[in-house]
Amino acid sequence: AERGQPLYLEGLNPPQREAVLKVEGPLLVLAGAGTGKTRVLTTRIGHLIASGHVRHPSQILAVTFTNKAAREMQERTSRLLGHPVEGLWIGTFHAICVRILRRNAELAGLNSNFTILDTDDQIRLLKQLLAAENIDDKRWPARILASLIDRWKNRALSPEQLPGDETQAFANGLGGKLYAAYQARLQTLNACDFGDLLLHVIRLFQKHPDILAQYHRQFRYILVDEYQDTNVAQYLWLRLLAQNTGGAQPAKHNICCVGDDDQSIYGWRGAEVGNILRFSQDFPGAEVVRLEQNYRSTGHILGAASALIAANEGRLGKTLWTDAGNGEPVRVSGVWDAPEEARAIGDEIESLQTKGHGLNDIAILVRAGFQTREFEERLITLGLPYRVVGGPRFYERAEIRDAMAYLRVIAQPSDDLAFERIINVPKRGLGSAALQKLHGVARQHSLPLTRAARHPDLMDQLRPQARRSLTGLMDDFDRWREALATENHAHVTEMVLEESGYTGMWQQDKSPDAPGRLDNLKELVTAIGEFENLAGFLEHIALVMDNDENDEREKVSVMTLHSAKGLEFDTVFLPGWEEGIFPNQRSLDEAGLKALEEERRLAYVGLTRARQRAHIFFAGNRQVFGQWQASLPSRFLDDLPVTHVETDTAQGLYGNSNRAARGGWGSGSWGDADDSFADMANTAPYEAKQDVSYGDDKYGP
Ligand code: ATP
Ligand code: MG
Repeated sequence: AERGQPLYLEGLNPPQREAVLKVEGPLLVLAGAGTGKTRVLTTRIGHLIASGHVRHPSQILAVTFTNKAAREMQERTSRLLGHPVEGLWIGTFHAICVRILRRNAELAGLNSNFTILDTDDQIRLLKQLLAAENIDDKRWPARILASLIDRWKNRALSPEQLPGDETQAFANGLGGKLYAAYQARLQTLNACDFGDLLLHVIRLFQKHPDILAQYHRQFRYILVDEYQDTNVAQYLWLRLLAQNTGGAQPAKHNICCVGDDDQSIYGWRGAEVGNILRFSQDFPGAEVVRLEQNYRSTGHILGAASALIAANEGRLGKTLWTDAGNGEPVRVSGVWDAPEEARAIGDEIESLQTKGHGLNDIAILVRAGFQTREFEERLITLGLPYRVVGGPRFYERAEIRDAMAYLRVIAQPSDDLAFERIINVPKRGLGSAALQKLHGVARQHSLPLTRAARHPDLMDQLRPQARRSLTGLMDDFDRWREALATENHAHVTEMVLEESGYTGMWQQDKSPDAPGRLDNLKELVTAIGEFENLAGFLEHIALVMDNDENDEREKVSVMTLHSAKGLEFDTVFLPGWEEGIFPNQRSLDEAGLKALEEERRLAYVGLTRARQRAHIFFAGNRQVFGQWQASLPSRFLDDLPVTHVETDTAQGLYGNSNRAARGGWGSGSWGDADDSFADMANTAPYEAKQDVSYGDDKYGP
């Protein structure tokens, strides 16, 4: 090391060092995956503190994409400096906005103890507003309105700022009015939703220059990770904080953003990759540092990933190199079906473990949430601990719990907890009043709820409509129970979900997370089919739920590609590289290349998570709702140069050229595939929402 150079600068390459040391003025670090962008940010924080550029860590504002990333950055900074660092403002946009808003709530028209609504509360509120306006909730579901409002908020549009035609999208032009009513209602309730957190602060800053000036004085240095995925509202917020123009003080603009246009994967949620491209215009005099050495992956992985992303048009383009050597080629394996895919990956994990590899260094990255199920089951069977990152485990997702509740009542009529969960899901006029009466009769006669439901005492108490509805439900349960005696249990499950109206409830639901939930339900039917009978399946679930995620053991990480952003693992498994799954069906249906290119960026993110080993799989067949469908290898496989790839076609089904395979057989089979089969919805929104909702039990936006 050079004499006098602080320890934390050692080991950085020259452009990285430049990015750490150039602390004054705007700076953009634009670089590919694994080049040390996040490391530069962390070191920069350490440098600002150690070199005395700030008097106190609270003068640094660092924005990360997830709470987990914030914790890690905080820990690393402490490690770098060799002592705990306290007082840093580090967190997600939402977390930081909550902090600012609590201090200045009154000025934003709230009390400092304001509540933050979760998605359920939000939906409930919107339903009330729809009812008040006499709008049919079936035709114009509250969830659609919720996602519209969300999108408006991502674009920083208040009700008054909505372009007129946008409101046409809902209830014949009432969208804007409902949005305004919703905001008014939130105000009365002293509440706000996730999107408001940013908007309130933006407006606070705009209306109260003195408050803004106060934060200008406080935050001498601003740092932002994953800048390519910021949306309009986040961008405006940053600009307000960083563009300290007016006033007596000279402009500082000490903002440092790092990002990679090739990893922009939230376009569908309103992120604007344009923000990164416009940086130099927004912050005149901005310096741009490019990093080209990749420290994460070996040569073959990097070569394959670079070739893959090169197939996208309209990118800035970058060269990446590594001195880590070629390492192992990226492996591509064709397997027969999804269970075989899970077996193959499970076996390989076991063999890695035998060779001394830790499970913490292994990840399975899937495109859509429903795909985790097969792997979770396999890992449990093999006794390999795992964690699902960014969302609940498959059997803990709300829609799966609901469906399971139906099955539990069929198998075990005295399962009161299960019955209570679904008695009014979907809505069938058996609200809390009816339930209370039901409980009364059950207690009085010491009966389980399903027996009390038929009791004459109860019939006397219920209104005719509730009585009919409850009797109907009980008859349904009897019928389903009988069907189970003669018919295939997977088929009965499908029937139960259909006839109870449960599937219909989600089909009606036009919110972005609904398709993902429907996929999960289909996957549940497939799972049940893998067991002898319903009892066997339910027993299995008890076992699955017992698996404790909070122990100290090393664990395999299972997650969606969206959740894997910024992370790295020695070994990465990438299953399901098939047309219609990855790229997903929606991107194939859409005219133009926009969605498809975002899928390819997602594939790039996936491959570049791997340090030493990347293993891609595709299955020749998938079972959807009991139906076998032939599938075709993903077009992304065509983008991987043979020099970096080792293809293993153990099944003898696939030739060397995937392109030939796609044209050669099974063409058209995806044409019949259900559109909702593979959907992007059930993926990452969870992570982002989870960041502010602190433990939401959902797996969707
Ligand atoms: P992504 O685009 O995926 O977010 P990134 O650009 O943020 O990647 P980092 O996560 O900061 O990259 O770094 C990738 C890996 O390379 C990390 O393990 C990091 O510690 C290591 N690394 C970064 N810079 C160096 C360096 N100069 N010397 C050794 N290792 C480095
Ligand atoms: Mg990073």
